[in-house]
Amino acid sequence: MDNEKMSKFIQMIEECNKIVFLGGAGVSTGSGIPDYRSKDGLYTKGTPEEMLSNSKLRKDPQGFYDFVTNNMIYPDATPNQTHIALMELEQLGKLTCIGTQNIDGLHQKAGSKNVYEVHGNLQKFHCVGCGQKHDLDWYILNGYTCPNCGSLIRPDVVLYDEQVKEEAFLYTLSAIKEADMLIIGGTSMQVYPFAMLPEYFNGKYRVLINKEPIEKNRLYRWLNEDINEVFTEVRKWIEVKKSES
Ligand SMILES: [Zn+2]
Repeated sequence: MDNEKMSKFIQMIEECNKIVFLGGAGVSTGSGIPDYRSKDGLYTKGTPEEMLSNSKLRKDPQGFYDFVTNNMIYPDATPNQTHIALMELEQLGKLTCIGTQNIDGLHQKAGSKNVYEVHGNLQKFHCVGCGQKHDLDWYILNGYTCPNCGSLIRPDVVLYDEQVKEEAFLYTLSAIKEADMLIIGGTSMQVYPFAMLPEYFNGKYRVLINKEPIEKNRLYRWLNEDINEVFTEVRKWIEVKKSES
């Protein structure tokens, strides 16, 4: 851990009150959910783009269902230090919102309120015919055919060949415009339009917490560290802060 960079990061958080956090798969790997884009990830039968696409869903609903239920579901995953620290920063009035590419719902599980899931949520499902809503447990048990109308039941997640959740995207974008600090963590920012969001930031500090550099790396103060270790340190500062107030 680079202590100098770390204390500088804490100083920035101390100074700012409109922080926005943008995150991706690396935020949840500490909770045991593999990064499904990483090379040693899950994809043996095809790329993530192929397996989690709308065309796969339409052409091979059974294959899509099998893939989702065998590989995408982690019912025992619990929030890690990063999720908890972000929730605490929100409670302290430091963080305005989280914009995430993750579909696991762990930020909400941690207790964060303003979470915008730009790629949707895998806890929720609906019928493409009649619109009937179902949850994950129902889907696992009952499959992908609607008992009312016989149409396909699909997850409320954004597949690779689909548009992002517009409302979540726009809320994140407007929060970024107002933000004084932008923290990007656990993502290499390769998926568009999510990767465009930082372009709307006009505040003071941009920080990237990622093992790998990203395309526009030079715009960021880069903490080349494990994100969970970084937020473990942030939580120590939060504890002190709480005990002072
Ligand atoms: Zn239906």
